[in-house]
Amino acid sequence: MPTGRSLAELESIVRNWVCGVCSERTVDGSCGLEKPSSCALFQLFPQVAEAIESVTSDDIYDYIGAIRRNVCGMCLEQSPDGSCEARQQVRCALDAYLLLVVDAIEEATGKVFQRPALGFSGQAGLRIRPEIRL
Ligand code: SF4
Ligand code: SF4
Repeated sequence: MPTGRSLAELESIVRNWVCGVCSERTVDGSCGLEKPSSCALFQLFPQVAEAIESVTSDDIYDYIGAIRRNVCGMCLEQSPDGSCEARQQVRCALDAYLLLVVDAIEEATGKVFQRPALGFSGQAGLRIRPEIRL
């Protein structure tokens, strides 16, 4: 990857950032989902990484847009009209913690993205702005 990281390394960095604060995490540090493998963020992590790989930009929105296109675009949870019940109910870790995913990408790439007028809102202040949903 142009990040200089393997897929496994990148996933490990993102897991450290996101699972550590995820509301699904249990007191013993494991994932509390009935099926941990169903977490969309990591189930589709190769697509998340591909999205990162497809972008060369200092603008964080370009990375966010690519993640939403590449990942949500092929996720079985997304309806044909582009809506997603999991997203609306804040059940998707990729959506709920997208800003942290991007922070992890910064760590992995050593970049500091421009964040003009970032207006993240929603639960824990971490959800993406509605107007840049794809
Ligand atoms: S739901 Fe996903 S992000 Fe949250 S603890 Fe489980 S694997 Fe990590
Ligand atoms: S927001 Fe919905 S469509 Fe996108 S990855 Fe999460 S569950 Fe899938």
